[in-house]
Amino acid sequence: MALAKAATLDNTLGLPCRAERFIVATSHDEIRNALAMAANDTAPLNIVGGASNLILAPRLSGVTLQVACDDWWWEESDDQTILVYAQAGLVWHDLVEACVERGWWGIENLALIPGHVGAAPIQNIGAYGVELADVLDSVHVMYCDDGRDAVFSRDDCEFAYRDSIFKRALAGRVVVTQVVLRLSRSPSPRLGYGDLAKRVSVPPKVQEIFDAVCATRREKLPDPAVLGNAGSFFTNPVLEATHAERLLREYPAMPHFPQLDGSVKLAAGWLIERCGFKGMRWGAFGVHERQALVLVHFGGGDRQELLVLADHIRDTVHQVFEVMLEREPRLMG
Ligand SMILES: Cc1cc2nc3c(=O)[nH]c(=O)nc-3n(C[C@H](O)[C@H](O)[C@H](O)COP(=O)(O)OP(=O)(O)OC[C@H]3O[C@@H](n4cnc5c(N)ncnc54)[C@H](O)[C@@H]3O)c2cc1C
Repeated sequence: MALAKAATLDNTLGLPCRAERFIVATSHDEIRNALAMAANDTAPLNIVGGASNLILAPRLSGVTLQVACDDWWWEESDDQTILVYAQAGLVWHDLVEACVERGWWGIENLALIPGHVGAAPIQNIGAYGVELADVLDSVHVMYCDDGRDAVFSRDDCEFAYRDSIFKRALAGRVVVTQVVLRLSRSPSPRLGYGDLAKRVSVPPKVQEIFDAVCATRREKLPDPAVLGNAGSFFTNPVLEATHAERLLREYPAMPHFPQLDGSVKLAAGWLIERCGFKGMRWGAFGVHERQALVLVHFGGGDRQELLVLADHIRDTVHQVFEVMLEREPRLMG
């Protein structure tokens, strides 16, 4: 039986946070026990992974659950396809590295995304032109109210850009316990994003793409161990074509990505940079000098200060471009 105890909750933003009843569950039964304990509590249950996409309150009342089951295994589905079963507490990047080492294709572009496997389907993690949804087979969950197990197929997950059913209808209602991926021995390089193609040989090896993604991310993104951050602070806005066309007439150099449904995705970082925020600092927080989409914490700040800055950036971008940015990391507590 896992014990609930008060604990300081490490998080990549470096915000001070004390969880009053923190439970680290190392087995399926321990997850179920923790959920039963939380059901008797008046405060809402908090589910955390690596806390890399969270803006935490100074105090989390109620039960805070972290799944720590971190085993993984695989089976050959046919001579090309490998089904990878990964438990929720496994570090995502460790799984990517292990699959790449075996020469399996599918998640090499998702290297170095911080956090645990269990959080990956929540916002359908994505990077360098690949999303989890591209390789996901199914998600195993446990319902918080009655401890029932269930399996969601990829279609059930209702994946979209940085979105899934777990962020909407099922938010806070299920714990992800395991993720199943469908990887391949057949090469399927995706090099259309950034300068990945320039960094690898032709035809590329899966390990080369992994290395190129890691190198690019290390150049562009601040390491949370050195400078607090939660990665992209806003999602890239998706506009109706007419709105995007109007903006493009005024800003012809604006990066834009037409979507299959006719809408157009813009780069939130470009909009923020255009408003002059890149590299600026306000007290304990600021906008990263190399990537305007990342808000950074220099230390000693609190979440209220961060949210005031984020609102100021969002409102300014709205005034200039009539585009409303949406926050990516989630508030907890
Ligand atoms: C430097 C940096 C770079 C990043 N780059 C990217 C990127 O390229 N692409 C990208 O998509 N994201 C990126 N992120 C965001 C983040 O890494 C991902 O969202 C990641 O999946 C969060 O994992 P986590 O374990 O830290 O989740 P947490 O931050 O702990 O939680 C995130 C959400 O998932 C829920 N959750 C966590 N575990 C479970 C579970 N087992 N069951 C149910 N719900 C759960 C939480 O309740 C919360 O709502 C970046 C973050 C940082 C700090």
